[in-house]
Parts: sequence; C-alpha cells; structure tokens
Amino acid sequence: MTWCPGCGDFGVLEALREAFSRTGLDPAQTVLVTGSGCSSMIGFFVKTYAIHGLHGRALPIAWGVKLANPSLKVIVAGGDGDAFAVGAGHLVHIARRNPDLTYLIMDNGCYGLTRGQASPTARRGGMAEENGAGQPINPLAFLITAGATFVAQGYSEDPQSLILLIQQALNHHGFAAVNILSPCPTFNRPEAAPPYRPEVVNIEATSHPVHDRLEALRLAMTEDDRLRVGVFYRENRDVLNEKPKGAGREDGRDDLTRLGEIMDELKP
Ligand code: SF4
Repeated sequence: MTWCPGCGDFGVLEALREAFSRTGLDPAQTVLVTGSGCSSMIGFFVKTYAIHGLHGRALPIAWGVKLANPSLKVIVAGGDGDAFAVGAGHLVHIARRNPDLTYLIMDNGCYGLTRGQASPTARRGGMAEENGAGQPINPLAFLITAGATFVAQGYSEDPQSLILLIQQALNHHGFAAVNILSPCPTFNRPEAAPPYRPEVVNIEATSHPVHDRLEALRLAMTEDDRLRVGVFYRENRDVLNEKPKGAGREDGRDDLTRLGEIMDELKP
C-alpha cells in the first residue's frame, strides 16, 4: 500500500471490492484501467486484470480494451485531475458517445502524488488560491451536460451508499460515472478541499426525478454545505459500437468482426 493512513481512497477500494463481490463479476473477464496519481494505484489492489495508464488517458485506453473485446467488463478509475484537467477532452467525448464503461472518479481537490497542488475541483481559498486555482469545476454538472447516461455522487466515508452506487454503475448499460468525494488528509486544507465530515444527504430518499436532465443539473448546481450522494441522472440511450436490432451490415457481419479481419490481413 502506498496510500497515506486515512486516505479516502481506502474507502473507495473497500466499496469497489464489495461491489465486485455482490455483482458477481468474474475477475478473469474484468479490466480496471487507471490513469496516474495516488488514486490510480487502486488497480494494484484488486484481483481483476488492470492497466496503469498515463495521466488523463485512462478513458481512451479503456475504450480501446472494450472495442477489442466487447465481452469484457471494463472499469476506469482515477482522480479529479485525470478526469477534469488533462483528461477533460476525452471525458466530454466519451460521455456523449456513451460506450459501455464504468468510470469512478476519486475527487480530493488536489494532486496528492505531486505534493498537493490545486486540481480542477479545488475550492477557493488557502493553497488553492495561492496556486491560482480559479473557479472550481462542478463534476456533476460537467458530466450531466456532457451527455453521460448515468451520473452519481458518493463519499468514501459513507461506504454503504457507495457500494450501492458502484453496483448500480456496474449494472448500467452505457457510460456510468460516479464522482466520489475522497479526502486527502495529507494535503487538503480545510478551506480548499472537500469537507471531511460534511452533512451527507442521500437524494435517493427524496422524490428526485432521476430521468429529468434539467432537474439533475439544478440539483448538481445547488450550493450549500451539504454533500448530496446518490444517482443524479440516468437514461437509456444507444450504446456506442452496439447496433440496434436489425441494423447490422448487409453481409450479416458486424463492424468489429470486419475490423478483426482487417487487422488479421495487416499482420506481417
Ligand atoms: Fe491519499 Fe493524499 Fe496520501 Fe495521496 S497524498 S495517498 S491522496 S492522503
């Protein structure tokens, strides 16, 4: 373990393991793709296949894995820097295209591995201000407007809710993203980081209309001291690289079969 004592990523790891177990995923048919940073070490601590990628490039790697072998369950994990800074361009276009991937974002508002610089979700004040952090990105609003078909938020210190959210994300057919508040006790400053023990509100206990995108956006952009966990938005939409029934090629072969044939032809 390379994580500091008390790191929020421990809670995410435990919830992920439990969700894997409850979902009954076969480790030999599961791939966890990560980016770079403290949270991306999570791939070392599970018994699935894993790829430790480059900073911000986990999503395209994961999409490549899914394209090459659509029968695999492909999960992506990384930090908020991976998602909303260097990888932001990938995230927008993956979200709107809706491939069948599960994305877990461990959001601590800083770059822990490189000693705590402000990341895109760093709140204003303290070290974030010194580093010119600017207005923080709202992860949920970002994901909802980009077109993700499942958007949820969890908290590493609320494991029971987090397990259920990860289970739902794993079962969603399409691009499912869960933003998880995962504090960095080593570098977070109280005024610039996700709060350690906020008042947690589970929106699933309310009458939140989960299929209403505008309502999800309104809830995501509501700013007060409470941390809302639960599924903000969910929709069923055509999944990338899966054709609707009856929409196959005229010769009866799908594009992936044809792609495999072309790659075989190119072999020396
Ligand atoms: Fe966790 Fe922060 Fe330590 Fe990284 S530096 S392992 S994010 S507590």
